[in-house]
Amino acid sequence: MADVDLFVIGAGSGGVRAARVASSHGARVMIAEEHRVGGTCVIRGCVPKKLLVYASRFSDEFEDAAGFGWTVPEPTFHWPALIDNVHREVARLEAAYTATLERFNVTLAKSRAVLEDAHTVRLADGRRVSADTILISTGAWPHYGPKIPGIEHAISSNEAFHLKGLPKRIVIQGGGYIAVEFACIFAGLGSEVTLVYRGENILRGFDDDIREHLRNEMRGRGIAVICGHTIAAIEPSSDEFTTRLSDGSAIVSDKVMFAIGRRPNVMGLGLDKLNVRIHEHGGVDVDECSRTSVPNIYAIGDVTNRVNLTPVAIREGHAFADTLYGGKPTPVDHSNVPTAVFSEPELGVIGLTERQACERLAKVDIYKTSFRPMKATLSGRATRVFMKLVVDGATDRVVGCHIAGLDAGELIQVLGIAVKMGATKADFDATMAVHPTAAEELVTMREPAMRHRRQAAE
Ligand SMILES: Cc1cc2nc3c(=O)[nH]c(=O)nc-3n(C[C@H](O)[C@H](O)[C@H](O)COP(=O)(O)OP(=O)(O)OC[C@H]3O[C@@H](n4cnc5c(N)ncnc54)[C@H](O)[C@@H]3O)c2cc1C
Repeated sequence: MADVDLFVIGAGSGGVRAARVASSHGARVMIAEEHRVGGTCVIRGCVPKKLLVYASRFSDEFEDAAGFGWTVPEPTFHWPALIDNVHREVARLEAAYTATLERFNVTLAKSRAVLEDAHTVRLADGRRVSADTILISTGAWPHYGPKIPGIEHAISSNEAFHLKGLPKRIVIQGGGYIAVEFACIFAGLGSEVTLVYRGENILRGFDDDIREHLRNEMRGRGIAVICGHTIAAIEPSSDEFTTRLSDGSAIVSDKVMFAIGRRPNVMGLGLDKLNVRIHEHGGVDVDECSRTSVPNIYAIGDVTNRVNLTPVAIREGHAFADTLYGGKPTPVDHSNVPTAVFSEPELGVIGLTERQACERLAKVDIYKTSFRPMKATLSGRATRVFMKLVVDGATDRVVGCHIAGLDAGELIQVLGIAVKMGATKADFDATMAVHPTAAEELVTMREPAMRHRRQAAE
């Protein structure tokens, strides 16, 4: 008999969920973690980031208060106090995750683990553990792209949580949600921020109107957004850096951050010698039940590079455990995943963009609105809310929803249920508005801004 029924490599969002659910179904489970229990989300991702987002938004609140009659003394911000508090909360969550594993009788090995063969895992101290099934949930890691001079001076989001002080000026390379969020965090806390992105506009893959709206809002908040350029070199001089861009121009700053993407953690695990197939996108190739090309080896979460979000990793881990140990085969549906970008303003999106809908559907109706939020009338803040519904003109189903504005992440979680259930535009229209809210616009947009009709093939 094998030492354990299931060996999980990586105690992040997906691995911890899979381990505890498998154990609750009666499996003997061991999990290895080489860094800290909780993984990216808890230690260096969603949680500490959202806490920084909260911190960064106070500057607007202080400014906006004046229009509502408040006199606020000149506020001051102390980065070390924030970072200490964030790390205290991260440690609390790490302990809670560890306690959960203990409570569910999952054996924790605080060690790196690699595959020796399809049924054996080797720990850093040389110990070998045999397992009937192995689950790879090793996550992903930031990468820095092609080597450029001075790249060793750049930080990633990992180090951003450990800076000694708030940089007065920071250059961030990247156009994905992590780059955009950190640009807004640093700007909100008072840094002078330049965002450099090689593509034509930030947030590739998001709806074009939302991308444009956010870029304009970010520029309005004083963030320099430079698209169509890359960082070619980073030159240190005393305690600052000169960042040279691809067009030869230069920006001087105190920090340079790269947030250009994350690569699945597949290196050095021993996957190649076992012929575990790697997908061309770099993640472990899996079927809809997260099984790899080796029948007793499974993979979930960011290491599979499907939809790289915490709730998705958790759902995949849960589904894996239910399928293998709960007698309940559970494929994961990766369509219509609601998601947020905690930028300023916040974005909440689900489903198809206008462009995707036009590629896939013969008839597409677009409803959109942009308006000044009520709070901005008295605060005087120059900001607008943007909302867009993408509707299948043939079935009237709402197939996409894109929001930029206060609490858009909260809105899209709730709206996501309606979209996932297949609500039609008529269902939206039949829903009474909640007044006065920004969200009421979602049920009061009556006239399409655009009707796309594909010509029938001759
Ligand atoms: C800055 C940032 C912000 C983010 N914000 C959000 C957000 O707002 N919302 C959202 O949904 N998602 C967000 N994410 C993404 C989210 O964190 C990931 O999708 C999620 O953590 C993936 O979970 P996972 O279980 O696949 O991997 P991880 O959580 O990365 O866990 C993998 C674990 O495996 C360990 N490990 C790796 N190799 C080995 C080995 N050989 N042996 C032992 N242990 C190993 C690692 O140390 C790690 O702890 C963010 C990510 C980042 C970086």
